[in-house]
Amino acid sequence: MDANCPLCSLNLKEEKVFYEDDSFIVLRTKKLKGHRERIMIVYKRHQCTISEQEYARALKILSEIGREVFKYTPKFVVLDSTFASINNHWHLVASDLDPKSEDFNQILATKWIKVVDNVFID
Ligand SMILES: [Zn+2]
Repeated sequence: MDANCPLCSLNLKEEKVFYEDDSFIVLRTKKLKGHRERIMIVYKRHQCTISEQEYARALKILSEIGREVFKYTPKFVVLDSTFASINNHWHLVASDLDPKSEDFNQILATKWIKVVDNVFID
């Protein structure tokens, strides 16, 4: 827990929380940046990396929640944290691919960890 960390000091009562378990929370990001939805999965403890098993589970959770949250659009992406403003508390952002969004160029410049196709269930 780091009092100066925005992810440690989240007030979950004020956030749109889609999922929570002992390790992770999935919630709407503070800034939507022009997207209809933009969500992130946050590790509950203040650390910058997590184990491979936890990472795999986080990706699975984010994809499953994303299928519901982004059901208005055929595809969404899980973004690499290269451009993340918070880099000392593990989290991953998922976003739709709206060309009119404020950060669309940044999304194109970011490595996509995963593309989730909402049309075809794999
Ligand atoms: Zn933190």
